Amino acid sequence: MKIVLSHLTKKFPGRGRGNKKKEDVTAVNDFTFEIPDGTLVGLLGPSGCGKSTTLNLICGLQKPTEGQIFFDEEDVTSLTPQKRGVGMVFQNYALYPHLNVEQNIRFPLENLKGEEKLSKEEMRARVEEAAGLVQIVDLLDRKPAELSGGQQQRVAIARALVKLPRVLLLDEPLSNLDARLRLQTREEIRRIQKKTAITTIFVTHDQDEAMSISDLIVVMRDGLVQQIGKPQEVYDNPANLFVAKFLGTPPINIFEGKVVNGSLLIGEETVLTLKNVPDQPVYVGIRPEGFILSENGALTCRLSRPEVMGRDVSIVSTHPASQNPVIRSIVDAESCEHLSGDTVRFALKPRKVFLFAKDNEACIPFDTEK
Ligand code: ADP
Ligand code: MG
Repeated sequence: MKIVLSHLTKKFPGRGRGNKKKEDVTAVNDFTFEIPDGTLVGLLGPSGCGKSTTLNLICGLQKPTEGQIFFDEEDVTSLTPQKRGVGMVFQNYALYPHLNVEQNIRFPLENLKGEEKLSKEEMRARVEEAAGLVQIVDLLDRKPAELSGGQQQRVAIARALVKLPRVLLLDEPLSNLDARLRLQTREEIRRIQKKTAITTIFVTHDQDEAMSISDLIVVMRDGLVQQIGKPQEVYDNPANLFVAKFLGTPPINIFEGKVVNGSLLIGEETVLTLKNVPDQPVYVGIRPEGFILSENGALTCRLSRPEVMGRDVSIVSTHPASQNPVIRSIVDAESCEHLSGDTVRFALKPRKVFLFAKDNEACIPFDTEK
């Protein structure tokens, strides 16, 4: 089922003491987007940008201040959560400690009324199906305290799936897991989503997580959508400085620069020759993989040290025009062997270089002169 958000807006009244009335908080600001049927959308942004509020609006726990929500052609904006057919895994998921796994998963089915009411056998079949999907059938008799974090998370997902929801909403479902388990569980979520083909929104502040499992990502900041697209497209064509900085590990390197007569200058050095960009000061973003070690490269940096990060080597250096305290460039290990002295020079891969306007921080498109 597709989900359509139309000008979705949520304001919370500002709180203040006495005469000092604070301004309203716009947690979600004019969010318009059509989520295609059967896709997994990663909703990504820093803490406080409005991710949980967006999910709460979609599942019906909160009412929008403005705007509408459609499931396929049906306007669900005023439906209660029970009537929307949404499965939700909350940020601070809590299983009932006194119930075993089977009872925890079955819980949402116990309260179904009227036509939806299920017999004991039907419930058992549903619970087994949901438990099978997340591969915890052999744990049904255990209590939550007897499960690992990853297993508890699977129970929470099974509990969200047991009502055969039309939409699955996952709010930072992996944040309580350790690094290895996070990797494993996110693959698991992807597998379950593919298998069930339930339209799913996966909220996270971890760009790596969102990039790796999403069909589409939505990057949010202060309630405003910054960019929507396939993960690789957004990485390769960030709409603005915020998106460029938010995606990628190691992060993009940002320099103060300027365009003068078609030359892109960082410090005194011309690092690229551009066509069609008017003279102006700019932020220059260079992805770590955009540097090529080169004896007569255009950008000269002060060498700090090579740093081995698993299979990659990153060269750590500094430059007076760099906004980051250190510049990280990823190069292949062999080209590092000849590093010596206290300077290092880089040529740049133009497709890994981005220019951003100083005023609104929007990306400035450019062509390079060969
Ligand atoms: P995220 O999930 O991205 O961390 P939230 O959606 O929880 O962000 O919050 C977005 C903004 O709305 C934050 O500034 C938060 O303080 C505010 N907010 C969230 N819920 C409420 C609420 N019930 N009352 C007032 N402000 C809220
Ligand atoms: Mg949240």
